[in-house]
Amino acid sequence: MSKAVTLQKTVSLLEDADRLVIVTHVNPDGDAIGSALALAEALRVKGKMVIVTIDDEISSFYKFMPGIDTFVRFSADEQVEADLLVVMDASSLDRIGKVVNCVRAPILNIDHHVSNTGYADYLYLDVMACATGEIVYELLRELSVTISKDMAFCLYVAIVTDCGYFKYSNTTPKCLNYAAELLSIGVQPDVVSDFLEMKSRNDVNLLSKVLETLDFHHNGRIASIMISLENYDADIATDSFIHYPRYIEGVEVAVMFKAVDAEVTRVSMRSRLLDVSRVALSYGGGGHKRAAGFTLQAELAVAKEQTLKRLTEEMDLL
Ligand code: 5GP
Ligand code: MN
Repeated sequence: MSKAVTLQKTVSLLEDADRLVIVTHVNPDGDAIGSALALAEALRVKGKMVIVTIDDEISSFYKFMPGIDTFVRFSADEQVEADLLVVMDASSLDRIGKVVNCVRAPILNIDHHVSNTGYADYLYLDVMACATGEIVYELLRELSVTISKDMAFCLYVAIVTDCGYFKYSNTTPKCLNYAAELLSIGVQPDVVSDFLEMKSRNDVNLLSKVLETLDFHHNGRIASIMISLENYDADIATDSFIHYPRYIEGVEVAVMFKAVDAEVTRVSMRSRLLDVSRVALSYGGGGHKRAAGFTLQAELAVAKEQTLKRLTEEMDLL
């Protein structure tokens, strides 16, 4: 089990390290990328040697993020000496892929997922934080780093990604105050939302095909959509697709099934009441009470049947 640490202790662990590797989770989103880039930049300003990495392709969708070109990808046999491996926004170790085998250093995990498995040497976990970016904002203030416009931009992207532009239940007075402070540093909210909301024609074409798969179960309490292997394109950002089943009257749980290989299906869930993080955790995934995901080693139709059966059972227990 991890040693739980305070924000102050987290700051001293970061201050005491000279060479740091920062890693965030595969299939990265705006919080993963934004919080990793902001912390990396701040530690570089403090004179530290920082490598920032993800064991995955980063969708070209995120090319607008300042510093996105600084992400490196380790080869399988690479060995990196560091004083600290900082794992951001990842609730289980499998989320950082092979990076765990490439870096010899104690692990500090900075996270906000209720499903955190306690795998790190040191864990700073704030489940009330709307995003890991919110925690990084607090860390930067404690580290006495002047927050640059680029850092502020990254942190704002992180926060609005995870709280859905202050719509979700994880929106708090604190996260709104921090967002306001980031705006006063110079973040332009319209510029951020134009980047995050922008869709290519291919994105919208895929969305139209995916909406045709909309399906209702359990008397309309569950809605699902599917992305077939034929339609799967790793470079199309599909994170927003789940909003469509989620915001349909009567729907309590929305699920998106994405075939990423013949026998591999990614499952994303959004819920109003059911704690979907527990469902995800039982399948080796994780997340938050109302937004969670996992990967099944099963073909799309099988994964769909199995997941819907399980969700129906869980909802009947409520
Ligand atoms: P999404 O459905 O957008 O992929 O993920 C929703 C939330 O669940 C995010 O906070 C994400 O980090 C978490 N999550 C999604 N898939 C997994 C997974 O396979 N493992 C873990 N540990 N967390 C996941
Ligand atoms: Mn997050």
